[in-house]
Amino acid sequence: MRIESYIRENIKKMMPYSSARDEFKEASQDMIFIDANESPFDTGLNRYPDPQQGKVKQMLSEMKGVNPNQILLGNGSDEVLDLIFRVFCEPQKDTVIALPPTYGMYEVLANTNDVELINIPLDKNFQPNVEEILATQNKQTKILFLCSPNNPTANSFNSKKVEELIKGFEGIVVIDEAYIDFSKEESWLSRLSEFPNLIVTQTLSKAYGLAGIRLGICYASKEIITVLNKIKPPYNVNQLTQDTAAEALSNIDRVKRDIRKIIADRKQLTLELKTISFVERVFPSDANFLLVKVDDANQRYQQLVEKGIVVRNRSKQLLCENCLRITVGNYIENEELILVLMQLQ
Ligand SMILES: *Cc1c(COP(=O)(O)O)cnc(C)c1O
Repeated sequence: MRIESYIRENIKKMMPYSSARDEFKEASQDMIFIDANESPFDTGLNRYPDPQQGKVKQMLSEMKGVNPNQILLGNGSDEVLDLIFRVFCEPQKDTVIALPPTYGMYEVLANTNDVELINIPLDKNFQPNVEEILATQNKQTKILFLCSPNNPTANSFNSKKVEELIKGFEGIVVIDEAYIDFSKEESWLSRLSEFPNLIVTQTLSKAYGLAGIRLGICYASKEIITVLNKIKPPYNVNQLTQDTAAEALSNIDRVKRDIRKIIADRKQLTLELKTISFVERVFPSDANFLLVKVDDANQRYQQLVEKGIVVRNRSKQLLCENCLRITVGNYIENEELILVLMQLQ
């Protein structure tokens, strides 16, 4: 499979922006930098950040066993996903496939890029319809989005099905692993080198507890990363974000502890939700949230809001009739949720 044939012509032809500091990456501290119209007065942040985020990538590289030139960082996964659209999809011509019910940003990004999104619903077990997906694709279908663990259904996709899709899909397969740290399944990162058309995205927004810094991560072949790099805004990850991310990555024990806690609390919350009379089903979860089927989602949603608790009403989504999506909170929040639900019985 030749990745190059999937890249848009204008992207192949263009020259990337060359930032003022690109040529002097290895420059010593005591050189004089009067090339970028920065302020000379030290505020701690008067210099532009490293456009290649070398330190964060080096740490991720060591942690994940992936070469730094196979990593791209973005202002959240949302920016990373947008860059993927812009590299591979010709507006008004190419198409992408998403598998609803799933993350809403694939559709939003398809719309902003004027790219048609083809929806192929998950089956009743929230698994991909492999045959239908492969039969639907054509030369114009450039990207297949697989979200695993999936939002809002909380399950992981069957790995055999995912492998069939990566092998059978003639285009780019993006596996969105925003919730992978809460899952018992292994990340597809370990198989990256086998599949030239595979992109794996992760984020510091969920398990790392850093939604506020906006750091999304994209892992792929060197070839794909090179072309994504070519079009990314030069300073897309700011200095504060790079510093905070580096700190979190150097304190991975804290992150692991938080993940273990959330997984334990997810289990406890599941048990307690199942005792509520109007809860009809709590779907198994590989994420930090639960998809919960109730008797009347609109009514229960409203009642919870009146008690000061905001959950996500997903009942309008395909296959999610009367379903609420509930994030695993801290101990007090989970207890309060259960208390309120008990009162509503
Ligand atoms: C929360 C979430 C993300 C995270 O996006 P960021 O822009 O990195 O915060 C990505 N994908 C899915 C499916 C999510 O639910």
